[in-house]
Parts: sequence; C-alpha cells; structure tokens
Amino acid sequence: MAVTSPKEETEVLIVGSGPVGLASAIELGHRGIRCTVVEQHERVGQNPRAKTTNVRTREHLRRWGIADALRKASTLPAEYPSNIVFATSMKGPVLARIENAFYCWPERNDLYSESGQWVPQYLIEEVMRGHLAGFSNVSFHFNQRLSAVKQCEHAVKATLVHTETGEESTIASKYLIGADGGRSTVRKLIGATMTGRPAEYRNFNVVLRAPKLAAMHPLGPAIQYWLVNDEAPCLFGPMDGVDRWYFMATKIDKSLDPESVDVCDMIRRSTGIDFEMEIVGSVDPWLAHSLIADRYSDRRLFLAGDACHLHVPFGGFGMNMGIADGVDLGWKMAATLQGWGGPHLLATYELERRPVHLRVLNEANLNYVKVANQFIKRVWMPRGPKATRCGKRWERRLWKRRHANSKRWASFSATAMKTHRPSFPMGRSLPRSILKTMCPLLIRVA
Ligand SMILES: Cc1cc2nc3c(=O)[nH]c(=O)nc-3n(C[C@H](O)[C@H](O)[C@H](O)COP(=O)(O)OP(=O)(O)OC[C@H]3O[C@@H](n4cnc5c(N)ncnc54)[C@H](O)[C@@H]3O)c2cc1C
Repeated sequence: MAVTSPKEETEVLIVGSGPVGLASAIELGHRGIRCTVVEQHERVGQNPRAKTTNVRTREHLRRWGIADALRKASTLPAEYPSNIVFATSMKGPVLARIENAFYCWPERNDLYSESGQWVPQYLIEEVMRGHLAGFSNVSFHFNQRLSAVKQCEHAVKATLVHTETGEESTIASKYLIGADGGRSTVRKLIGATMTGRPAEYRNFNVVLRAPKLAAMHPLGPAIQYWLVNDEAPCLFGPMDGVDRWYFMATKIDKSLDPESVDVCDMIRRSTGIDFEMEIVGSVDPWLAHSLIADRYSDRRLFLAGDACHLHVPFGGFGMNMGIADGVDLGWKMAATLQGWGGPHLLATYELERRPVHLRVLNEANLNYVKVANQFIKRVWMPRGPKATRCGKRWERRLWKRRHANSKRWASFSATAMKTHRPSFPMGRSLPRSILKTMCPLLIRVA
C-alpha cells in the first residue's frame, strides 16, 4: 500500500477511507482496477461507532478472504454470546433477554455462510486496510482533501489540497466515488441535497476502562445492556473481552452539553454500581439524522455510504449498508471499465440501492422510537419502592413468556436486523402483532 503523493492519473478515485471507501477499494482492487484512495485525515484514533458487523458484511469479508482475520482481530471470543438484556440497572432486575440477537453464534446455519460479529469499527477498518496493503493497484494518500472536481465526457479531474502544507495537486480518473461521509464534499459538488428528518435530539458515546465490572454484575454476558431507569437511561456494553466498555446516552436534554456532563457520575447512576473506571479518550457526541440524497450520481461521480444515506444508528445499519454500496458500485464500475458491463449497468446502482436504503431508514427510525428513554414509565416500574401493580403484573407475564419465546425472539431480531436473507438482505418489517406477543412491555410503552 503506497502512501505517497497521488499520481496524476488513475482509473477510480475514491474520496474517504472509512469502511465504505475501503470496501469500494477492495472490490475494485480484487477485480484488477487501478484505484487511488484520498483521505483528509490520518483516520486513526476514531471513536468506535459501529460495533455490529452483520452476517452479510462478514460474507463479503469471507469472499475477500479476510473473515478469519477479523475474527482473530477481536478480543471478544467468537463464542461470546450476542445477547441483548433489558434491565433496570446492571444489578437487575432483568426485564427481557434476547439471545443471539445478531446471529453472532459461530455455528453452521443454512441461511448464511458467516455469523455476525460484535467488533469495533476501527478494527474492521484496520483489517481492511491491512488487506489492501497487498494490492499493488491500490494506493492511499492521507492528509489529502478533495476540494473541487471537473468532468468531461471521458474523465474526471479532481483537485486535492494537502491538509498540512496547503499544496494543491490534480488527479485524473475515469470515475470518482464519494465515500466521504455525512458531510460529503462530493455530494455538494454534484448538487445533491439530503431530504428526510434531521436529528431532533442529542446523544453521546463514551468508552471507559473498568476491569472489575464484568465480575460485579449478575446480568450474564451480553453485547448490549439496555438500562431502563429514570436516573440515566442508556445503552451499555463491552467493547472487548478484557476491560473496555461503551456507554451510550440517548435522547439527552437539548440544553445539556455532552462535554460538560460528569460522565462517571452518570454511568454510576445508570448502572446502579459504584465501580472504578477510567474514561478513554473524549466524549463522542452524535446526532441521529434520518436523511437520504435526492440523487446518487452525476455522470462519472457516484456517492456511497453515509455520503448518500444517514441512518439513525439503531439496528447496526450504516456501515453495513455502506459496505454493501461499495461492493455493488465496485463490481459494476469494474464491469463497465472492463467493457463487459454494458452502457446501462452503472445506472442500476441507484435503482437497486435506493429502495434498500429507504427501507432501512424506516426500520432504523422505528428502532429509535424505542430507545431506553421511551421504556420508562412509572406505571411500568416492576420492582423496588416505586413498583406499581401494573408493572408487577407485566413483569410476571414477561417472565412466563420469556423462556417460551426466546427462540422466536432471536429469529425476530435477526429479521429486524436484516441479516438472514441471502437473496434479499432487507428481511421484512416485523408485524406489529408479533412484536406485541413477544414483548408486551416494550410495545405498550413505545
Ligand atoms: C453512535 C453510532 C453507532 C453506530 N453503530 C453502527 C453499527 O453498529 N453498525 C453499523 O453498520 N453502523 C453503525 N454506525 C454508522 C457507521 O459508523 C457509519 O455509517 C460509517 O462510519 C459510514 O462510513 P463511511 O465510510 O460512509 O463514512 P465515514 O466513516 O464518515 O468516512 C468518511 C471519510 O471521508 C473523509 N472525508 C470527508 N470529506 C473528505 C474530503 N473532502 N476529502 C478527503 N476525505 C474526506 C473523512 O475524513 C472520513 O474519514 C454508527 C454510527 C454512530 C454515530
């Protein structure tokens, strides 16, 4: 993997070295296309946003020959259960448990060839970059920002600015992929606009080291603990099998500045456990936009990933959908460049991907309606001094149904996460009637 100044000419210029830029480069690289990836930052030390790598993404990694490398890169063992636990605190009581929610259990399944994996986004990127190091036809250039672009009938000419020296250079290519994230420059350059629902709430993530915590709670292993309490509702879980955890505060008060929050105090209140912790890095605030571009391309320029669709991050969709964009665009671009794809193949990229994106946006929005904050209603409190008759009644019913339903839960969850249909990766929206049977507590308060 060369890290030099970009050459003056390439076949495909990829802007952005996030997971989508990397997926595009791998797909094109495997097909013998010369590509150049330019990235405005060093792309190191990013906060671990995505953690859910779904079965479809892992199937792409398998085809590229790096599924095992990702499995080995994770400090969470493959057999660590991808359970989701709903509880009022890390001391309990448990409200509901979904087993093997993301199909991460490493056993043979006729529906897919690879199990999902709970692994931080920076590790996937590391594995993908490492794989690209073996490609002589793919080069990387960090600290290079795309600033302008011109295109004619046969080529694209891009202007790059070195972010440290300010030096300008130009590079010509046959096509350009804008995998440059939510604030995409390429999107602006082609005049596309995002429509949909901009974020209404603030949210933040933080990573902490807490080596003793795993032994201090009785909830059993899981990848997500939804802590439903009125102290500080959150999503909490392990980042690795050793000592790192993430804490995600959702739908916080608009007047609250995430940077000024006493995070340790908030985590202790939310978990209900007083434990030793050290915050790693800084607070990572994020917004839950639900937006889609009005068009994905302009002649030789194409958008992929967050550049053309921004999801609410509930369901593990953004990176996984974006990697699939890179794969779809990659093979179609290679086929067109190699002359066997036909003149209309690239136009099918948007035709095929947009319905998928719209469906997933919708599903992610439905998931965001039901974050921990929404589950809290005093009327539902099942235990403790604030317990209500209604809460106690539902808890009894829930416990009775839990075991009977655990298998259906897992299957629902995989459907909702769109992971189990190899021919049509979207799955189906969950019928409300099923959801109602499976978990009365959640549906009634959502
Ligand atoms: C809290 C949270 C949790 C999430 N969890 C999940 C999850 O579990 N599963 C999942 O699938 N997704 C998840 N996501 C979404 C996922 O993180 C994103 O969808 C994914 O990072 C998008 O990848 P990308 O490559 O399109 O864009 P990015 O990761 O944003 O990368 C774009 C790159 O382009 C570079 N760039 C931008 N402009 C220029 C320019 N002009 N010139 C050169 N370079 C440029 C940027 O520096 C950046 O490195 C989550 C998101 C959040 C906020």
